[in-house]
Parts: sequence; structure tokens; C-alpha cells
Amino acid sequence: MICQLCSSEKLKRFAGEVAIHFPGLRGLNKPIVWVFPEIWVCLDCGNAGLSVPDRELQILAAGDDDDMVPDTSCVIQR
Ligand SMILES: [Zn+2]
Repeated sequence: MICQLCSSEKLKRFAGEVAIHFPGLRGLNKPIVWVFPEIWVCLDCGNAGLSVPDRELQILAAGDDDDMVPDTSCVIQR
């Protein structure tokens, strides 16, 4: 595996936690989606990447469509 920005092979895997917020003023009324992915960090340039698990990905996709009702069992209400 190499870094997509600088082509370095010095990538390291970490455990992470990310709170994803929907953007804009409408996002203030939507729940925060917590994701606990593996995060790959390039130790040369700082580029980082992660994959959102399927369940949380469905919540994010549904959150952009007000007609869809997401499964919010892994989100924290504000
Ligand atoms: Zn890099």
C-alpha cells in the first residue's frame, strides 16, 4: 500500500473515532454519526484515509434525503 499523495510506503494503521456532521444549517438538526474506523496515515506527508462502515454509510446516505428514515441506533442526538 502506498500513499496516494506522495507515493510513500510509510503508512501506518491506527484505530480512530470520527464524528461526522451534516453540513450547513440544516445539518444542525440532524444527528452526529459516529464512526470507529481503521485510519491509515502517511508518516511522510500526513495524508490520511478511512472507510466508513456500511451501516454508518447508509445513515449518511439517508441523511441527505429527508424522505428516507435512517436507522439511527448508532448515532448520538444533540
Ligand atoms: Zn504521503
